[in-house]
Amino acid sequence: MTAVETFDNFIDGEWRASATGRTYEKRNPFRPQEVVGAFPASDEGDVEAAVGAAANAYRSWSTMAPQQRGAVLVGASELIAARVDSIAAEMTAEMGKPLRESRGEVARGAETLRFCAGETWRAVGEIFSNSTTGSQIQAIRRALGVVGLITPWNFPWSIPLWKAAPALAYGNTVVLKPAQEAPLTALRMAECFADAGIPAGVFNVVIGRGSEIGTPLVTHPKVRAVSFTGSGPVGHQVRDLAAAHGKRVQLELGGHSPLIVLADADLARASEAAYSGAFWSAGQKCTATRRIYVHEAVYDEFRTLLLERIRRGVVGDPTHLDTEVGPLVNKTQMEDVLGAVERGRSEGGSIAAGGTALDGEGFLVPPTVFENVDDDAYLSREEVFGPVTSLYPIDSLEEAIERANGTAYGLSASLFTRDLASVNRFVAGVEAGVLRINAATAGGEPHVPFGGSKASGYGPREQGRAAREFYTESVTVYLND
Ligand code: NAP
Ligand code: MG
Repeated sequence: MTAVETFDNFIDGEWRASATGRTYEKRNPFRPQEVVGAFPASDEGDVEAAVGAAANAYRSWSTMAPQQRGAVLVGASELIAARVDSIAAEMTAEMGKPLRESRGEVARGAETLRFCAGETWRAVGEIFSNSTTGSQIQAIRRALGVVGLITPWNFPWSIPLWKAAPALAYGNTVVLKPAQEAPLTALRMAECFADAGIPAGVFNVVIGRGSEIGTPLVTHPKVRAVSFTGSGPVGHQVRDLAAAHGKRVQLELGGHSPLIVLADADLARASEAAYSGAFWSAGQKCTATRRIYVHEAVYDEFRTLLLERIRRGVVGDPTHLDTEVGPLVNKTQMEDVLGAVERGRSEGGSIAAGGTALDGEGFLVPPTVFENVDDDAYLSREEVFGPVTSLYPIDSLEEAIERANGTAYGLSASLFTRDLASVNRFVAGVEAGVLRINAATAGGEPHVPFGGSKASGYGPREQGRAAREFYTESVTVYLND
């Protein structure tokens, strides 16, 4: 037996065990016998230390030349680019994402940092003339102070980074509480920042149970803002608590993304997008394709293509580069998904592919396709966080748009067509924050806004220049001599 490595929090520029002395073991979801490491089970005291360090670091970090902060981000991006393979391999080991997707996610993080570094060279405000004296009035954007970031396990690299990069670029200091299911990835991020020379206290990571350290972080008097990505129930609790304590708060929550395929669509591309959107990362994406509305004229042909694509797809060991669908993150998650499949059946749905877990100790559920699911059935309304999608015949775009809007969510939506008028009707009619034409429901770029409408989000959008709205505030300076 090899010894289990123990990892520490990153607080005030140092690797520190939790003051509680407690740890927990994180296991590999494909080989549950294998322990990835022992991680701190932190408590309120560790949060206090991290927020204190971030508050102390704020003044010098926020007042240095913004381009010097940008230089630290560029340094970190270069280290990330050099470490893609090792970081991605550890991410795959701790949360099961197929290696090819892990590598893409880590590499994309370097681009996010470079984009945000570039932002530090931009104008910081506008200048007006005083209406009486003609002297200057400046409206500047300024950092907030300490920001708390609470993140999920499903994009354990990109989500913490797309929050931290703009937060740091604009001059805030950060306390990150990553998901317990993916602690090592967050600690490797801290290592990249540390090795790039980020000053002590500017970026801190505290590992632990959300129900234990979430509230102390959200309510801490020195935390100015909280950015949360995760599930609806937890997010609403975080929002209510943050608001009650007078903090700025932003939520990115679940989704139930529809993909609409019209009769004139390129069906080969549409079925490929349906496959990747519904099943890559084992469907554990907020933007995963949960509903596929196909025009009845091409329904059978599309269905055949999708089922063929599923037969060609590789399910299994996520460390193999040809694997497209790996394990679910843990046993509970797998049981939830299989429970939802059972419920889908009991409510009248029929299964065209998948539906049962694969043999072996890894938490593998193969691509699962339902048909004959009612619009008010569980699978049509609730987010099932796994490789499960449903096919619905439609006879017009209008019908598809109405049904696409039929859930509480509004994160992303896709349309496959060659007809511009249909595109325009889709863009005008679908209630979602991200609309994708002839592309899968999942995916995004670091320089454009990302976020959901309706129950999928709350507060300003993330990423691109949009991030400035959340991580800075406007200060008006009347300059008289
Ligand atoms: P989750 O259970 O809501 O957890 C998210 C984070 O909140 C974790 O770090 C969790 O900690 C923490 N947390 C738990 N209880 C808390 C509390 N009482 N106070 C403060 N923080 C607390 O979500 P998840 O299971 O990790 O992720 C899956 C969900 O995220 C799905 O619904 C998915 O759709 C959504 N998601 C949304 C987006 C988006 O951008 N819209 C992106 C990705 C995922 P621990 O788990 O470590 O205890
Ligand atoms: Mg959870």
